[in-house]
Amino acid sequence: MTGKCPEYLNDLNDYLDGTLDQATCAEIQRHLGECENCRIMIDTLRQTVTLCRGGKPEPLPPALEARLNGLLKTRWEQKFGKRPG
Ligand SMILES: [Zn+2]
Repeated sequence: MTGKCPEYLNDLNDYLDGTLDQATCAEIQRHLGECENCRIMIDTLRQTVTLCRGGKPEPLPPALEARLNGLLKTRWEQKFGKRPG
């Protein structure tokens, strides 16, 4: 790593999001061309971003959610007694 890497690291997320301004973007691309460490870093980040975006949690099926809520309510009442209202 060169001494400049930490500066770029801060911008890599924005770079992946596409929210960087043109000048910074070009600078990062130039740096990525000559710095293997940052290339590896951005590959890792990109994979992580893809994984996070691809791994959206599915909403629970309504029947299951109702059952879970009922279970939680029962547990709550066993522990703390019935809540007023
Ligand atoms: Zn670097």
